[in-house]
Amino acid sequence: MFRRILIANRGEIAVRIIRACKELGIESVAVYSTADSAALHVHLADIAVCIGPASGAESYLNMQNILSAATRLGCDAVHPGYGFLSENAEFARLVEQCGMVFIGPTAEVIEQMGDKAAAKALMIQAGVPVVPGSDGVVTSLEEARQVAEEIGYPLLIKASAGGGGRGMRRVFSGEELENAYLTASSEAQACFGDGSVYMEKLILEPKHIEFQILADNYGKVVHLGERDCSIQRRNQKMIEESPSPSKALTPAIREKMGQAAVLAAKAAGYRNAGTVEFILDHAGNFYFIEMNTRVQVEHPVTEMVTGIDLVKEQIRIAAGQELPFEQRDIRLNGHAIECRINAECPEENFRPCPGRIEGLFIPGGPGVRVDTAVYQGYEIPPYYDSMVAKVIVHGDTRLEAIRRMRRALEEFIVEGVDTNTDLQYYILHNEEFVRGQFTTAFVEKNLSELKQ
Ligand code: ADP
Repeated sequence: MFRRILIANRGEIAVRIIRACKELGIESVAVYSTADSAALHVHLADIAVCIGPASGAESYLNMQNILSAATRLGCDAVHPGYGFLSENAEFARLVEQCGMVFIGPTAEVIEQMGDKAAAKALMIQAGVPVVPGSDGVVTSLEEARQVAEEIGYPLLIKASAGGGGRGMRRVFSGEELENAYLTASSEAQACFGDGSVYMEKLILEPKHIEFQILADNYGKVVHLGERDCSIQRRNQKMIEESPSPSKALTPAIREKMGQAAVLAAKAAGYRNAGTVEFILDHAGNFYFIEMNTRVQVEHPVTEMVTGIDLVKEQIRIAAGQELPFEQRDIRLNGHAIECRINAECPEENFRPCPGRIEGLFIPGGPGVRVDTAVYQGYEIPPYYDSMVAKVIVHGDTRLEAIRRMRRALEEFIVEGVDTNTDLQYYILHNEEFVRGQFTTAFVEKNLSELKQ
């Protein structure tokens, strides 16, 4: 087992990883920017190193400073968390070149899955269903017109290097194509430094269903069931749950999707924890959309229903241990829901709302888990993500989980900054949500009603 791990991240995920390290008897090294000297991860880690100024580009994305801290302190491994350098193949490669273990898949796999058009091509080869679309990237407007003719409208233009829903455009007719193609590729260029886009059929009002997988270094791959992440705003997840309440997800389709997820991971030569994302249509057809090669924000819902600590498993796999369970040992127990709490103002078009937390009460009681790095008196810096907490609940049934989440959100008090807690609370009371019959279009369709 490792002796010392550097955590190349901040916020709740850095705290989450430090906790896993402590429980495994591993020393943790936190890195932080000058804006984060009072951050919780800095206090909780055994050692903390400042790696640069406030801006992410100069600190949490500063590979050189992070790697020199890790080597100077004699770390055996680096955990990248999510976001920042977690899906950066060059970083993974450099960690290994410095003689440390990157807690994740190999650089080659990160590269291949990070190029979404290439990932899709690999899945087609492996026999995993994908959304019908262009054969790889579309390099000119002319080609875009041709592909549109073949697949028909409505369609979706997506950034090949994409993430977080950026560089994505829906197109409903031929007149919209030119503008959508140009804006998607320029947005992709601006966000990811790579303007390549590809096209696929837009599946109307689908469910977003993803499977958590774990793969060791010895060829064993298991999946830990699905998460339903259909409650999204602008392709960004807001609420996640496991299992999915969707009626379209019959036991037979669930079984098939799980097998497809394992097949996808095997085809990619995957190791460590990863997520295979699908969309599911009303008729029960499912399509691979992408594979995330890191721990997900929403990993706790899977932990709550399986009883498996995903971060500890990531560390154990990276240390060369075999997965201690088989597929048949994985059972989903009860129901778990996660709400992402963001420091933002839903009334003002979700403007981020950093600032000082004047008062804070964190909910608790049976079946409630809160993953956060904020505390009373903490000043949320304006430089990073606006997500400040995740409230996760577990219940024997979905209804119990819903009721538990409602009361947890009622207990939650954050003073000094605006949050989306009320909006989450209204969603938890919405009839469509309670019936479980929602799709990725839910928030958009109900937003004005929800905000009242
Ligand atoms: P990103 O990496 O930017 O998050 P994804 O490929 O994961 O991009 O897609 C994000 C979201 O966009 C999905 O959860 C789903 O809601 C929607 N989406 C993606 N592809 C399609 C599609 N072909 N049809 C309909 N919705 C889609």
